[in-house]
Amino acid sequence: MLPPPDSYESVPVLIVGAGIAGLSAAWRMEGAGFRDYVLLEMENEVGGTSRSGANAISPFPWGAHYVPAPTREVKALVRLLDEAGVMEGYDAKGEPIFAEQHLIHAPEERIFEKGQWWEGLYLHLGESPEEKRQYKTFFDEVDRWTRWRDRQGRRAFTLPRFRGSDAPEVRALDRLSFAQWLDERGLTSERLRWFLDYACRDDFGGRLETVSAWAGLFYYASRKEGPGEESRPLLTWPEGNGFLVNHLKGCCADRVRTGMAATRISPVEGGIEVAAWDARQGRAVGWRARKVVFAGPVAMAGRLIPQLAQARGKTHFQAFQASPWMVANLTLKARPRETGFPVAWDNVIRDSSGLGYVVATHQTPHDRGPTVWTYYHPFTGESIRSEWIRMLTLDPAACRDLILGDLRRVHPDIDACVTRIDIMRWAHAMVRPRVGLLWGPELELARQPFMGIHFAHSDLSGFALFEEAQDHGLRAAEEVLGALGLSGNSWRS
Ligand SMILES: Cc1cc2nc3c(=O)[nH]c(=O)nc-3n(C[C@H](O)[C@H](O)[C@H](O)COP(=O)(O)OP(=O)(O)OC[C@H]3O[C@@H](n4cnc5c(N)ncnc54)[C@H](O)[C@@H]3O)c2cc1C
Repeated sequence: MLPPPDSYESVPVLIVGAGIAGLSAAWRMEGAGFRDYVLLEMENEVGGTSRSGANAISPFPWGAHYVPAPTREVKALVRLLDEAGVMEGYDAKGEPIFAEQHLIHAPEERIFEKGQWWEGLYLHLGESPEEKRQYKTFFDEVDRWTRWRDRQGRRAFTLPRFRGSDAPEVRALDRLSFAQWLDERGLTSERLRWFLDYACRDDFGGRLETVSAWAGLFYYASRKEGPGEESRPLLTWPEGNGFLVNHLKGCCADRVRTGMAATRISPVEGGIEVAAWDARQGRAVGWRARKVVFAGPVAMAGRLIPQLAQARGKTHFQAFQASPWMVANLTLKARPRETGFPVAWDNVIRDSSGLGYVVATHQTPHDRGPTVWTYYHPFTGESIRSEWIRMLTLDPAACRDLILGDLRRVHPDIDACVTRIDIMRWAHAMVRPRVGLLWGPELELARQPFMGIHFAHSDLSGFALFEEAQDHGLRAAEEVLGALGLSGNSWRS
């Protein structure tokens, strides 16, 4: 049991958690000219699962590594990218033009299958006519949903999701798994199902059988402007979305207190008391605020705010299950041997429980010599608890064996090239959009403010993406600014 703070410092607004949601809340307050806030972060660095690291060779991501280039409708992200110098301007239709160096350079993706590398993530080589038909059927369905509009003219799937339709036929997609939805359409092709399952593992840390059909279709339909069109191009940086974290941090750095873990949040007469543990000083510290933005995971809110836990009940918090992920940054002194299509930004191995690796130096002109690879491994088993234990009980040697064992199959001389492996294990990496979560009562309730505490985290969308975390940060900040009589135009998309 931690000792209570000796005294409390007063501040009008306290933000807890400096991931994308918390940083976006701070960014919004700064945008309103409101600076009477403090932002607490328990880690020594801000950014949460979007933060980055660096070594002598290159910066590298520790988690999130790209965003789809937004259209003008995704107002908040366009505003941020413009501010961060990623854009060159707007075209005649008002659509953003992105600077070439931030768009992913070709080749974007490749897959290792049948003993060599191939371009893209779906190998058409050797496809039977039936497999071809099923592939087309699936993408015709995606096109149908891309074209679809509800009575108010809203699309079914948008980024961020709050702009999308809540029509009954859209909500119905949340009541069955993606696997059931494919079964209903006779989409049984192993090739197609592997490809779609890969997308579920990559974006949601889940599987075809556990994520909802809504989530599965969202992945494809939200990234296309219209039927038959390509998905939006992607924006990336050597440090991944750490690039955007660094920009957001620059807007509020003097308000941030790192190494400060909130340990208890208690609504009291006239405000909210927040106790925190100052890891550097080794002592409890306290704040008394008029408003709090809690920008940590939903389950964490249940542990830190006893009144909230009591009011909402245990099963409410159990609805938010997050997949654990291991991310490793491998430093290579030279490139390993390989066969087939040349190295791409994203390099995926077909028969692997990992997701492959992203090359941090891909956007630089050097395609030989030293580099850094970011290797991703989600723990996608159905029982989150067992997966969490499985990940946390892997010692460093077991992590190294898992990673190099996987890579040796595609690069036999990888051991001779790797000089260092740095590993991050994320216990709460990504909330899983399991069947029933996205349109269920828990999500709706979790977004509601509670006794002066406003909530902001990607958990509140039911899946973890930059646009969602940003939107919740802006929403919570605008709720607070409104309550303080400072409301202006919304920055939300
Ligand atoms: C491996 C991986 C890859 C990903 N790739 C992508 C990608 O390419 N593109 C994309 O858009 N998204 C990606 N994501 C999703 C990414 O998580 C989101 O884009 C976004 O960063 C989530 O931000 P958040 O603020 O909602 O949450 P978090 O990142 O969870 O941030 C919460 C913050 O709150 C802090 N905190 C928690 N409790 C406390 C406390 N008690 N006191 C103080 N601070 C506290 C945490 O330390 C953390 O900094 C990826 C995620 C992972 C794990």
